[in-house]
Amino acid sequence: MTTPTIEAPLFDTVAFVGIGLIGASLSLAIRRHGLARRTLATSRHQETLDTALRLGIVDAASTDLSEVVKDADLVMICVPVGACGAVAKAIAPYLKPGAIVSDVGSVKCTVIRDVMPHLPKGVAFVPGHPLAGTEFSGPEAGFAELFEQRWCVLTPLPETPPAALEKVAAMWRGVGSNVDTLDPEHHDRVLAITSHLPHLIAYTIVGTATDLGTDLKQEVIKYSASGFRDFTRIAASDPVMWRDIFLNNREAVLEILQRFTEDLTALQRAIRRGEGDTLETHFTRTRAIRRGIVDAKQA
Ligand code: NAP
Repeated sequence: MTTPTIEAPLFDTVAFVGIGLIGASLSLAIRRHGLARRTLATSRHQETLDTALRLGIVDAASTDLSEVVKDADLVMICVPVGACGAVAKAIAPYLKPGAIVSDVGSVKCTVIRDVMPHLPKGVAFVPGHPLAGTEFSGPEAGFAELFEQRWCVLTPLPETPPAALEKVAAMWRGVGSNVDTLDPEHHDRVLAITSHLPHLIAYTIVGTATDLGTDLKQEVIKYSASGFRDFTRIAASDPVMWRDIFLNNREAVLEILQRFTEDLTALQRAIRRGEGDTLETHFTRTRAIRRGIVDAKQA
């Protein structure tokens, strides 16, 4: 009789520093797919950890981060990008030799700048960003399917050991993501246009509508299905997370915003001058982009 072989999980212990929407979703997915023997979490507030434990998101949790990270093979930093440097500094003394540190921050250059100097020799850093999310926050918002068929971009550094990069990539593939690697600067410029500018526009439109008179505001909500509703969903995203994204991707966002403003002014002029052909040509071109996104199954 042959004994069935049980494949060893990719990691023994994965520790999450920050267990909100992204950390919780990743922990649930890791557990579902058997990618670690156990997952642990640490966070600022005991209440967050109590929720994570109650919902079966992690095996154990503590506000004492040294307890949580000391035996981890992989430490996932899942806090707002502006807090990643302080987290790296706090965990650094407790990381075991050979551990891998990774993150999920929406901006890469400043996270690398803030985290890298704190990590001891013998600890690998694999910066990453899953291009998946919702407008909800906290562990109760997490769900195991979040990353399925979504991209995860890893932005390795020249000093990132290839074996560590491959292990983190294997984890993301294991939770259903497609993995790509990009240069960190390139990542930040691409995300400025695909994610950061759309959020800024949504925050602006919803803010403008909010500033309108009470009567008009009621009509805005009543007829929101005509387009406004999609903006309100985006503009409901976490204020702290997005504050940090704009402060940390300042240059790329300002550059894209400049180009956007110029293009908006051109459309404004076409409307004022009654140049229907200009408008129609522009809208035809942009319609094709939507078709491309649908064809790529990212709709
Ligand atoms: P979240 O649901 O708000 O959870 C944030 C977690 O970080 C919580 O555990 C919170 O702890 C902790 N935290 C907040 N501020 C902190 C600070 N100053 N120092 C230490 N810990 C802090 O956030 P999330 O949506 O999971 O986002 C986490 C990261 O993922 C961010 O870097 C974001 O850019 C990135 N990301 C987000 C999305 C998205 O759509 N949400 C998508 C891709 C990537 P307490 O609850 O204990 O206070």
